[in-house]
Amino acid sequence: MLGSTDENIFFEEEWLDTLEEQGIRANLIHAKLSYIPSHCRKCGIKNEGQIIKNGSHKTKVQLLPFRATKTELCLVRTRFYCKECQSTFNAQANLMVY
Ligand SMILES: [Zn+2]
Repeated sequence: MLGSTDENIFFEEEWLDTLEEQGIRANLIHAKLSYIPSHCRKCGIKNEGQIIKNGSHKTKVQLLPFRATKTELCLVRTRFYCKECQSTFNAQANLMVY
């Protein structure tokens, strides 16, 4: 339904919340973005165990209205740490809605 072909996005069991913002109904979709990166996004080194998960990072993305209702995506992105260059980077999504 998001027009996403990203297989790294996982939807929570309770993936849809309906809430009211200033008297206007809105949909809130909960999803998680997680995968094992093949390369470091900063130094480009091939991941052979140097890149580890390092917490997560919550982002909110405005989507196209779903069933004529304002819809937002609450996406929890995995954060990675590269031991090689000692930098952190976030998981990237290929959402069509960006
Ligand atoms: Zn690196």
